[in-house]
Amino acid sequence: MEKIDIKSLTIEEMTEEFASMGHPAFRARQVYQWLHEKLAARFEEMTNISKEMQKKLSERYYLISLKTVDIRISKIDGTRKYLFALEDGNIIESVWMKYKHGNSVCISSQAGCRMGCRFCASTLDGLARNLLPSEMLDQIYQIQKETGERVSNVVVMGSGEPLDNYDNLVQFIRLLSSEGGLHISQRNITVSTCGIVPGIRRLAKEGLTITLALSLHAPNDRVRENLMPIAKTYKLAEVLDACHEYFVQTGRRLTFEYSLVKGVNDTPREAKDLGTLLKGQQGHVNLIPVNPIKERNFKQSDQASIQTFKILLEKTGINVTIRREMGRDINGACGQLRKSFLESQN
Ligand code: SAH
Repeated sequence: MEKIDIKSLTIEEMTEEFASMGHPAFRARQVYQWLHEKLAARFEEMTNISKEMQKKLSERYYLISLKTVDIRISKIDGTRKYLFALEDGNIIESVWMKYKHGNSVCISSQAGCRMGCRFCASTLDGLARNLLPSEMLDQIYQIQKETGERVSNVVVMGSGEPLDNYDNLVQFIRLLSSEGGLHISQRNITVSTCGIVPGIRRLAKEGLTITLALSLHAPNDRVRENLMPIAKTYKLAEVLDACHEYFVQTGRRLTFEYSLVKGVNDTPREAKDLGTLLKGQQGHVNLIPVNPIKERNFKQSDQASIQTFKILLEKTGINVTIRREMGRDINGACGQLRKSFLESQN
């Protein structure tokens, strides 16, 4: 019989599983707590579970535990970047950032990505595979254990398109926010998407209270198609309609991410058009100075253009923030560290 990934089971699923093996419900709660609150990496660590039961569990289940391949610590701001190896040898990356309001972890949802955004390093080698709920969780668990500090915020903004791995993503969110687990408030979980319309609509009806971030990056379809191939499939009008629907269903205001690329999407005209485009949306714009990758010739907008863009956009009545760049000295942008690691292995 093929072993089951125990760390991906909800408490309800585990209780049912255990009942079929003849174990009472409290055993499922104990094991669930070992996995998701005490962050045990092996069945042998579960000291209130008998040796005999530990053995039975290890026969029926496998316990995902990521291996840390590398940790880089930024000298500028203490940001930590982790490279983890999955059981099958695939490599993923995650980032830990310290803010005044708490510690935030940015996780990957896929090994690689198939969305093809032009400025992004994660997508250069395509998609290797989807991550399991347990593999998304374990990035956070390993980091919390390594830093010894509680994680309070999680952003799904690392490598991969979360809505391209929909079921595993939703299961992951339920596990992460569950009692008996890390119990992170869904309000402190953000999922960023390049704009897969059916996924956004489905997520709106999921009964979750997470924040949705949309990677916008352009004020019209023409510029957006240049940067993001997905824009050819889903037009801005449809994407923004789905975003509005997300707000209506969940009451959660959105974040619109806009990476500024010199001479591509950063003119005053584009700032004004963006303001017009977002009329009636509930949310704010987060401007991100693009993090140049060596494979592409995209340059960061200069400070003056960024400030002008911000002021013009604000004049249209929209709230605007500029993302502080974290970990610039340690390959901070999506997929850059993984990519340079894979290249060094060749
Ligand atoms: N696939 C999801 C989440 C991953 S990327 C999405 O598209 O939203 C998280 C954010 O970083 C996205 O807005 C993405 O467009 C942006 N991004 C990726 N590479 C970047 C780079 N080199 N510079 C600036 N932003 C980048």
